Amino acid sequence: MRKKASCNYLILVVLIILLMVSQGCGSKSTLGAARPARVDASMAKQLLTEGNARFTSGEILKRDLPKARQAIAQNGQKPFAVILTCSESDVPAEMLFDQNLGDLLVVRTVGNVVDPLLIGSIEYGVEHYKAPLVVILGHTNCGIVKEAVENKEQCPGNIPNIKEKMKPAVERAKETKLTGTQLLRRAEENNVWDVKSQIEESHIIKQFKGSGLQVIGAMYDANSGTVEWYEDNGCDLGDFDYTLPKESISENSNEKR
Ligand SMILES: [Zn+2]
Repeated sequence: MRKKASCNYLILVVLIILLMVSQGCGSKSTLGAARPARVDASMAKQLLTEGNARFTSGEILKRDLPKARQAIAQNGQKPFAVILTCSESDVPAEMLFDQNLGDLLVVRTVGNVVDPLLIGSIEYGVEHYKAPLVVILGHTNCGIVKEAVENKEQCPGNIPNIKEKMKPAVERAKETKLTGTQLLRRAEENNVWDVKSQIEESHIIKQFKGSGLQVIGAMYDANSGTVEWYEDNGCDLGDFDYTLPKESISENSNEKR
């Protein structure tokens, strides 16, 4: 009788362990479970969208970082997206997309502007790691774009070089006669489109676009935490509900705004 009871107890323990394992011990883990072995561009975008939804809701995944680190050390990394975003402290791509070690190759510069060196880093993610998606992620309330819009002078050192890069985006925004926050938002958006065009000039990017690579713009709302994906014919920016003016869309709608 006693033997039967201990046997039942053992079965119960095994069942509980199996249940815990199947549910990730009460927490979610992305270590090999949530991420498919092979990720294409649309899947990559979906993973980022889902991660951003977790970030905005506060339900971020619990991760075993030492285990992830060891897995990468043993098997190598396989980032599924290259993210170009601003260096400012409130735009950490891994956090706002709720991704794990080894998931993203992130390139950051203040104002998410690029030069050949930085485009090289993006190419590296595409060419070496075969990341199927490149995201140019601007953000609202970007400090350097705001300074460029306000035309603040006497910036020391190399900072004027950054503003010079975004000058065309700012000038086009000013041509719209928008003011205040709307003007800033338009400049931030134009900057994303301009940088996207510059990246798409890369012959490596062109080459990989032929085999499924996607390059997309997006805007991170620093207030809500939401990332809004840009479509090639404009975007819906919530309150601003802004569609690109027709005359600014080139024949190739994938190109510069
Ligand atoms: Zn910024």
